[in-house]
Amino acid sequence: MLTELPLLEPEKRRGILDVPDEELAAWLAQRNEKPLRIRQIRRWILHSRATSFEQMSDLPKHLRESLAESFVVFSLTPSRHLISKDQTHKLLLETQDKRTIECVLIQEEPRRTACISTQVGCGMGCVFCASGLNGVERNLTAAEILEQLVQLRNLTPPPEGRLTNVVVMGMGEPMANLENLLAALEMAGRPDGLNLGARHITISTVGLPAKMRKLADTGKQYHLAVSLHAPNDELRSKIVPTNDKTGIPEIMAAAEYFFEKTGRLVTYEYVLLGQLNDSPKEARELASLVQGRVAHVNLIPFNDVEGLPWKRPTQQAQTEFINILRQSGVSVKVRKRKGSDIDAACGQLRRKVELEKAAAGTHRN
Ligand code: SAH
Repeated sequence: MLTELPLLEPEKRRGILDVPDEELAAWLAQRNEKPLRIRQIRRWILHSRATSFEQMSDLPKHLRESLAESFVVFSLTPSRHLISKDQTHKLLLETQDKRTIECVLIQEEPRRTACISTQVGCGMGCVFCASGLNGVERNLTAAEILEQLVQLRNLTPPPEGRLTNVVVMGMGEPMANLENLLAALEMAGRPDGLNLGARHITISTVGLPAKMRKLADTGKQYHLAVSLHAPNDELRSKIVPTNDKTGIPEIMAAAEYFFEKTGRLVTYEYVLLGQLNDSPKEARELASLVQGRVAHVNLIPFNDVEGLPWKRPTQQAQTEFINILRQSGVSVKVRKRKGSDIDAACGQLRRKVELEKAAAGTHRN
């Protein structure tokens, strides 16, 4: 007769990457296993692409079975995987508490860049951004941040495929979850992990000065990108609500501090919103704000978000804006659009799926 074994509900088992070393060591000790197993297990996941404990062939079988009873390799489950014409991959991942986050793999030989999220939703409320439309639900754990990198890396061709760069530009405000982000990046940086050096990692922030200084104080060589979006406080406070509390001068001072501490050039991001912040006047103001600093400006033409009234800048407005910055000696680039056919921009796919779910709900009623 067949007996059905009671399966543990997946959500009852924690992601193994989320278990602190001391706790895992204690768990292993109870099973007469040495703490060196921790490194072995992590190496299997981070380096050797294991997706189950079963595959960890140098662990005793009974240990693999016990691990599988108590933990899962990944706490995040892909709920959608989209691949665009330009080979951009987008993963929608479900957390164990049934929330959804996004991450993206952008492939431009020889670079393979992962774009990752740090929070479910976002509390910053930038008026043009899909991620913050419903506020922030919670911070991601360090393991949830790390898992995004591992799962995106697993999409690159084995065995030598690896991530070359990371941009922390997905959902959420990295500085609002700095501790978990740094813990995840520390793990990702290990040579027996994903071997991702700080210099290849860009952390993008809305501009939270105290946390920017804290990041600078780590002395780590991360690349900092500051989402400026406007050259004066009046306009910026309309676009970026948190600006009311901080103000541009404090953000620029914190960015300058970051440069002094790390020697790393700071990038200023500027989303061009048609007829809102894309006029020659703003270009001139922006130029005088960044001139004389070791800085770079990244212009991002607005990506449409369903339900929001903002427009992309015209080609002419873009060209004029760039020219004014260039003539002032400012280093500037326009960010290329990748994966637009799969809603790759910040929070867009998640929002679309939520809107679809809501619509389906309405039909049923
Ligand atoms: N909270 C952080 C990181 C996430 S957003 C920050 O504010 O920097 C990463 C970048 O994408 C930011 O510069 C953000 O302003 C930009 N962005 C968000 N939504 C966008 C949209 N619809 N079109 C263009 N850029 C967008």
